[in-house]
Amino acid sequence: MTGPATVVGGGVSGLTTALELQRRGHRVTLLTPELPHHTTSAAAAAVWHPFLHRPDPVHLRRATTALHRLAALSREPERTGVRVRTLTEFFPTATEPPWWTRELPAAHRARPAEHPPGYASAWSLPVPVADATRYLAHLAEEFTADGGRVERRLVSDLAAEVARTGAVVNCTGYGSSALAGDRSLSLVRGVLLRCAKPEGLRGCWIDDSDPRRPTRVIEREHDAVLGGTADPGLVATAVPEATVADILERCARLVPAAAGAEVLEAKVGFRPARGSVRVERDPYIPGLVHNYGHGGAGFTLSWGCAADAADLLGSPH
Ligand SMILES: Cc1cc2nc3c(=O)[nH]c(=O)nc-3n(C[C@H](O)[C@H](O)[C@H](O)COP(=O)(O)OP(=O)(O)OC[C@H]3O[C@@H](n4cnc5c(N)ncnc54)[C@H](O)[C@@H]3O)c2cc1C
Repeated sequence: MTGPATVVGGGVSGLTTALELQRRGHRVTLLTPELPHHTTSAAAAAVWHPFLHRPDPVHLRRATTALHRLAALSREPERTGVRVRTLTEFFPTATEPPWWTRELPAAHRARPAEHPPGYASAWSLPVPVADATRYLAHLAEEFTADGGRVERRLVSDLAAEVARTGAVVNCTGYGSSALAGDRSLSLVRGVLLRCAKPEGLRGCWIDDSDPRRPTRVIEREHDAVLGGTADPGLVATAVPEATVADILERCARLVPAAAGAEVLEAKVGFRPARGSVRVERDPYIPGLVHNYGHGGAGFTLSWGCAADAADLLGSPH
């Protein structure tokens, strides 16, 4: 099926879904009250990293699709804001390769000499990292350059939008709690520090062993991102000094080159969390497909979920 289609939501899920539908021949209108750089997506560290501890083949398939698309975009980093960097994940105990690296031949065990004190194992692999704001702007530019239309408005009735075009993908993130009446969505607040790039910092490092205090040091082209937190239910946007100090201390322990990093900005974002990502047809409204609830992995899953949502929209109900 081709023809007109509507995508609701202008974060990373909405933009990738809009581009995927366009690629398949749809004339796409994207509805969003906020421009991409004001969405949750713009606050992300935007590292390709599945951020899920239990193995899940569907999650892995979607993440792998996104990995390949993002790696292709990294060939033009100035234009797309995506670059490939070496990611090392540290573990306090001896581990087998993380489940999500099993299909990735470049993943390898890091040498013990490279572990900071307190870690027993580490795995490294090259992954795409986006400068979220630049990347979202690139996606929006591609969409409009190919004839896509953006309408700045809030949607209050998905069935009414389906009645207009016959084909709608709902990519509203946490907005779906009201728009789709989804009570299983919740917000998990995250704090990241945008810092001046420390001298000699090359790569990305992650320690996710404490689920409330995920630690990451991410090199970007012109700055570095240090994180972070995962605070379920917290809605405050002010960042206490103690949180900043805790993040800096954890990051310096993980990566000595990050010690003394100059903080330019403390950023707060809200992950749209759900037991599992919802990519499915609406059970009651033919022509409506949902694509939301990506939690801490919206960039990692983006192109895979967009392809699945487009498949669902294009096949008979
Ligand atoms: C601190 C932090 C760090 C992160 N780091 C990473 C990372 O390293 N890697 C990774 O993969 N992911 C990361 N994430 C997760 C990622 O940011 C999210 O999963 C992703 O942004 C979700 O994107 P989305 O497009 O689904 O939702 P959003 O970005 O929230 O976009 C939703 C869109 O829907 C619109 N909308 C809402 N309601 C309506 C309505 N009624 N009508 C019309 N439009 C509506 C909004 O205006 C917005 O445009 C991080 C998140 C945070 C907070």
